[in-house]
Amino acid sequence: MVTSEYERRIAARFATFDQDGNGYIDREDFSGAAKALLAEFGVAARSDRGQALYVGAEAFWQGMAGIADRDGDQRITREEFVNGAVKRLRDNPDRFAEIARPFLHAALAVAGTDGDGTATVEGVARVLGVLGVPGDPARAAAAALDTDGDGGIDEEEIVRAFARYFTVPE
Ligand code: CA
Ligand code: CA
Repeated sequence: MVTSEYERRIAARFATFDQDGNGYIDREDFSGAAKALLAEFGVAARSDRGQALYVGAEAFWQGMAGIADRDGDQRITREEFVNGAVKRLRDNPDRFAEIARPFLHAALAVAGTDGDGTATVEGVARVLGVLGVPGDPARAAAAALDTDGDGGIDEEEIVRAFARYFTVPE
């Protein structure tokens, strides 16, 4: 069986969303990612930052379900992901950025930011690691976001990079 580079990348993106690896994407994958991030950074679920992360995860799930869950069974199968999410997100990366923004905003706050909302490269690499991006690529990806090399990454940069990663050009 020949697998194209494009198909391989789609499979990798699906696996990243399917955090618990049970073969479909659902609400549990998003709340599970939130829980794992809070554990990684030692932030309590009932804190303001913890609650914001769960709210962001739910909004992210609702946005993805609205785009991709065509039969409305609250699960995004691989087929729904490929035929719904990937095509529509590729056509409209800004839409994806808006869906993901509340979650990313909250994740950066959990990872630790200075007053103006700038996260550290190390913090962003840890977030990516928890979300299933392997260690070295995560650190390289995070470092690449710091375009001016001052060790900080702002929200706009990470939202755009995240959208680029998940909207997989053909
Ligand atoms: Ca799953
Ligand atoms: Ca479905």
